[in-house]
Amino acid sequence: MFGIWGHPKAAEITYYGLHALQHRGQEGAGIVVSNGEDLQLHKGVGLLNDVFDRSHLEKLVGHAAIGHDHYVTNNDTGFENVQPHVFRSQTGSMALAHTGNIMNAYKLRGELEDEGSIFQTPTATELLAHLIRRNGKSTVEEVIAGALQRMVGAYAFLLLTEDKMYVALDPHGIRPLSLGRLGESYVVSSETCAFDIIGATFEREVLPGELLTISDEGIKSTRFSLREQRRLCAMEYVYFSRPDSDLNHVNVHASRKRMGIELAKEAPAEADVVTGVPDSSISAAIGYAEQLGLPYEMGLIKNRYVGRTFIQPSQEMREQGVKMKLSPVRGIVEGKRVVMIDDSIVRGTTSIRIVRMLKQAGAKEVHVRIASPAITNPCYYGIDMSTKKELIAAGRTLDEIRDVIGADSVAYLSAAGLEKAIIKDETIHQGICNACMTGDYPVQLDGKPDISYSGF
Ligand code: AMP
Repeated sequence: MFGIWGHPKAAEITYYGLHALQHRGQEGAGIVVSNGEDLQLHKGVGLLNDVFDRSHLEKLVGHAAIGHDHYVTNNDTGFENVQPHVFRSQTGSMALAHTGNIMNAYKLRGELEDEGSIFQTPTATELLAHLIRRNGKSTVEEVIAGALQRMVGAYAFLLLTEDKMYVALDPHGIRPLSLGRLGESYVVSSETCAFDIIGATFEREVLPGELLTISDEGIKSTRFSLREQRRLCAMEYVYFSRPDSDLNHVNVHASRKRMGIELAKEAPAEADVVTGVPDSSISAAIGYAEQLGLPYEMGLIKNRYVGRTFIQPSQEMREQGVKMKLSPVRGIVEGKRVVMIDDSIVRGTTSIRIVRMLKQAGAKEVHVRIASPAITNPCYYGIDMSTKKELIAAGRTLDEIRDVIGADSVAYLSAAGLEKAIIKDETIHQGICNACMTGDYPVQLDGKPDISYSGF
């Protein structure tokens, strides 16, 4: 998600911001601009480059914009789910984009339907739009705050009207969201890597439970909830975010390297060479190798022309995808005892294939080391891991996992090791959400997580 207020080239800058954030979602993209009188939208299915060309951007004239790269969870592919969504009424228009997941979306939608609402999509953006319209009579901030207070989950929202931009982050700050400056303009982004691309400077983190109002009058901060302890998603550090981003003042590459160092302390392997699964595991592999004084080598090469879009939701296609995406380097691994570092194991597809590949390329032994704890619980907060039965580590011992993936040994980083790698300064960074690894869910619905409806 990316937004900008107060720049004559708002759409173009949003395009560059979304380009830097493409790793967060490849299934669709969209930009809405405001020219002060009206909102204009262009969006479509596919990568940003497939959806936008210069002619689209030239038509999106305005001084403010919000944009979104769409990440599919629960197979919610299709144009109608691509954001932002624009809602028009007699009193004005609003565009909405969000990331994350609203856990009580099903219930809220039912209540609104009972009151006469009709929905076009199952998205949380449409749900918020209805809650805002129903909330009606006070100031816009109060209306938005009232609507957000009814939502339970992990989310970040951008809302654009003709004359204001609103920015909100969930009460625990589970999803990342940063505020920056580009000259006189304000910019907001899921990750700071987008600021670097456009030459903006980081101003501060959007705070848990904060609602920002940005307009020509400047910026105003209010709260729609009591500030809870920040619980930024650990998977953002482990896998999701770009290494050059800083999340809550902690650089992602540096935290991954520390994960590798901690992993090496906890689970050293007798080996000749360390290799990482490109790209997200390379930082951890470097840390692991450095800590043990072993050579780090490019034992696996990634084909850059296979996007994640190519990897379809069926298991068969996923396996084919891994084969096309990664190749072993025979000259590096042949006859060697190889430590294969991956950042995480979800379904096990990648590990199974890679261990097999490395052995076929002549590796004498393959020791799998995972730079995060075993994922044993579903995520209800917006990462696409929604059922326990698809998780290879759920209900299996370490020896069983080793046998399933065909490795000579397997070890994971401990939860304490992960926390140590991420939280380097407790005054700044208060905590992480590692519910998928520990089952400690910071946000619960009626005392238990409920994924009966995802809200995406
Ligand atoms: P799997 O092959 O299902 O075990 O998934 C693990 C691999 O996918 C690892 O190599 C990770 O780098 C990557 N990964 C981890 N989390 C996710 C996610 N939420 N979506 C897509 N890929 C992921």
